[in-house]
Amino acid sequence: MKSGKQRKLEIKSARLQRTARIQSHPSPLPVDVYTPGIVWCDATRLARRISYGVPAFIERGYYVDIAFRCRDCGVECVWTAAQQKWWYEVARGNVETRAVRCRPCRIKERERKSQARRMQQEGLQKKRATDHQ
Ligand SMILES: [Zn+2]
Repeated sequence: MKSGKQRKLEIKSARLQRTARIQSHPSPLPVDVYTPGIVWCDATRLARRISYGVPAFIERGYYVDIAFRCRDCGVECVWTAAQQKWWYEVARGNVETRAVRCRPCRIKERERKSQARRMQQEGLQKKRATDHQ
């Protein structure tokens, strides 16, 4: 019969061994968790960070699928690990940003913004034209 204290020490040393094993491992994950839904992060390709906080995917070294609710229509959607890699490493999106809208709403929002910009520019042109009359 082991004492509680002994048991605690055993647990602690097992945890320390595990941590040491993970740290000495060249990749942050054992191979068996390399599954769809996980994509490695190449931190050298990321846009420069402004804040001092390290986003979870950098600390972890990989992206995971993120489930979220669309800000506009409320539909449940998934921002996949592959999409995140594209956004941060190819589009060089700010690492503090993340998906908030589903795809249809994102397209609508982009359309709305470009229309607002167009209308603003048209308004400016009209104003300039009347100023010169
Ligand atoms: Zn939506």
